[in-house]
Amino acid sequence: MTRSIIRAAQWTLGPESTEGAPRGIYSAECLTCGAQAQSTDNERLPVEVWTLKHTGVNPTHRQFRATAETFWRVTPSNGNPYAESDAQGA
Ligand SMILES: [Zn+2]
Repeated sequence: MTRSIIRAAQWTLGPESTEGAPRGIYSAECLTCGAQAQSTDNERLPVEVWTLKHTGVNPTHRQFRATAETFWRVTPSNGNPYAESDAQGA
């Protein structure tokens, strides 16, 4: 994800970087029968493999709703009063 800076508001939007937070959660659902892949943290490939296998077993099931969920965090930029209070642990 590209880090964006909203200078007028003195806040920075970026990916959630807390330890243990997933960069993304991937999942897919068959639009024919509603079967769902087990969602995965950070790994898209297992969901893609599930999708291909699902169609392999059910050749008429070829449409899926794929979801990639990501997490963002907004942090105060330099000059934002909250930057100082965050640094002090307040
Ligand atoms: Zn299906």
